[in-house]
Amino acid sequence: MFSTAFLDIPPLQEASGSVTLPGSKSISNRVLLLSALCQGTTVVHDLLDSDDTQVMLAALRQLGCGVEVAGTTVTITGLGGRAWPTEAIEFFMGNAGTAMRPLTAALAVQGGDFTLKGVPRMHERPIGDLVDALRELGCAIDYLGNPGFPPLCIGQPALQLDKPIPVRGDVSSQFLTALLMALPLAAADRAITIEVVGELISKPYIEITLNLLARYGIDVKRQGWERFVIPAGSRYQSPGTIHVEADASSASYFIALGAIAQGDGIRVNGVGADSIQGDIRFVEAAERMGARVTSGPNWLEIRRGAWPLKAIELDCNHIPDAAMTLAVMALYADGPTLLRNIASWRVKETDRIVAMAAECRKLGATVEEGPDWLRVHPLPNGQFTHALTKGQWQGASIHTYDDHRVAMCFSLAAFNAAQVPVRIEDPKCVAKTFPDYFEALFSVATANARHIPVICIDGPTASGKGTLASRVAAKLGYHYLDSGALYRVTAHAALQAGLTLEASDESHIANLARHLPVHFEGEQVLLNGMDVTDAIRSEQGGMNASKVSVLPAVREALVQLQHSFQRLPGLLADGRDMGTVIFPNAPLKVFLTASAAQRAERRHKQLILKGFSANIDALRADLEARDARDMSRSVAPLKPAQDALQLDNSQLSIEASVEQVMVWWQSRQVFG
Ligand code: C5P
Repeated sequence: MFSTAFLDIPPLQEASGSVTLPGSKSISNRVLLLSALCQGTTVVHDLLDSDDTQVMLAALRQLGCGVEVAGTTVTITGLGGRAWPTEAIEFFMGNAGTAMRPLTAALAVQGGDFTLKGVPRMHERPIGDLVDALRELGCAIDYLGNPGFPPLCIGQPALQLDKPIPVRGDVSSQFLTALLMALPLAAADRAITIEVVGELISKPYIEITLNLLARYGIDVKRQGWERFVIPAGSRYQSPGTIHVEADASSASYFIALGAIAQGDGIRVNGVGADSIQGDIRFVEAAERMGARVTSGPNWLEIRRGAWPLKAIELDCNHIPDAAMTLAVMALYADGPTLLRNIASWRVKETDRIVAMAAECRKLGATVEEGPDWLRVHPLPNGQFTHALTKGQWQGASIHTYDDHRVAMCFSLAAFNAAQVPVRIEDPKCVAKTFPDYFEALFSVATANARHIPVICIDGPTASGKGTLASRVAAKLGYHYLDSGALYRVTAHAALQAGLTLEASDESHIANLARHLPVHFEGEQVLLNGMDVTDAIRSEQGGMNASKVSVLPAVREALVQLQHSFQRLPGLLADGRDMGTVIFPNAPLKVFLTASAAQRAERRHKQLILKGFSANIDALRADLEARDARDMSRSVAPLKPAQDALQLDNSQLSIEASVEQVMVWWQSRQVFG
């Protein structure tokens, strides 16, 4: 997961390959709650691991459920037949609507001494219609803040279930889902009827609820979309084992990707056209826009068809979440695309109509918006630009409003004819439904190498370039190449193979280096799967590296391996010839220096910390000797690249050095 402040996605070129999507959020949280309300254990496979499910799991644990997590399989021991908690419990619901609504209903119907709170945005998301319906049937619920909104306090109910229970259907279908899941708890000896007031929105989500209730032994009788009857004698029964489908809304980004990007097509695993999720109908909308989609049980394949895409006009009531993806696809169409009947966007994680309009405009697009509609005009698409196109692509910094879908949608805009990058602010917000979304995107998308940014950091030994480079890499979410480690590992491998480190063994060492089985795992360096971190990091390891690094064939043999580190979204490369030989076109090169005295002091601290004995004066003499050798050697001498910026960090903290490099980097970006 990218937990950086922002993620810069370079302009993307093509996309090919397959992705396996995480489990559906809607199905995951329903299944968790239903399993908790059963008697006995339920083994849930392919559960989504996300903020929303974490919130639900934490709440279920607080209630006394057994919860055992093993990867994406979770075993729930339900509360059915066990004592319901009587002590006061405070639940923290974060911004998880799929946990808040159904839990509120289930807790209120069972009764207790409960408080439900969330993040500030949760306290702005309406819940009044659900509370009204629950109060109508005798539940005791109070508002702790603004009437109509969380936080809530729940007490003991006096249930009256003889009359039909009215619930608003036109604000959020989650209210009806919540009641449908809570009321079987009270239907042991009487049928319970729910009546929907107003036009029911997001019907497909109700279909998911009914479908899953049936799997848990509750056979709800539906009369149109107005009346739902839970038969007398209903009782939750565990299905024993249940598989969660991959999230069809998450699939929309990869369906769109297949439609937008050139390449050999995208395969999506985990969900097929026969999915029980309403958002699977996004496939039809994407096909109307030109995508070529084939499907089988549990998979989809998508290719580019019409190009530019075809503009459409669509009532999106049946695919409220996935329809956001259409707004971004509209940028590649042959005319304005109109998305209608999307009023529910206004009460989601953020006001999504405002958000989508504002961020599309930042990309350069013309957008019109109404109370429940959005019209997006396309941007130029190279030689295929249509006459109706307005505006120009701009490199934009996309604000994501703590809304996972905004972040995922706009990542697609990195495919653009103007070859401008896209910055996604707060990329970790995707954790709500798809923590590894960007990793999945980068596993199928490719960029032209000249667009994948490299920042080179070089300087004399012990100048702190490794620390600086890895900190900047962490800030940008970029990969990190410690080229010194490659020379250290090469020397280590050569000695292990019984070679000397002299010119006489040059070609053998080069052969070793060409196929070096080296892997980096965080701070650890593995050679052939063996941890060699400590061995190569010693002073002797550095000397040995110096020796092999003057052999031209060895340097040549390591070039390809070093180039292979230049992957999406970007690279921090640390080492003497990064800016001069390996990545001469890098957009930022930093030459880091510090006085010999400072460097000796730092190295001394490092060694003492590691438990080695060391003498500062000897270290300083060593460093100066190494500097002299490194600067005067004929092969890859230590010298700044011509276009490198010098940074003397003798008097700077590491944070200040990182800040300086970030300032230089930011000033080179197009995001304004
Ligand atoms: O950076 P580090 O101290 O790990 O590098 C060890 C040695 O490897 C350096 O002193 C230098 O002689 C050599 N080296 C090199 N080219 C690089 C990185 C390191 O010659 N790109």
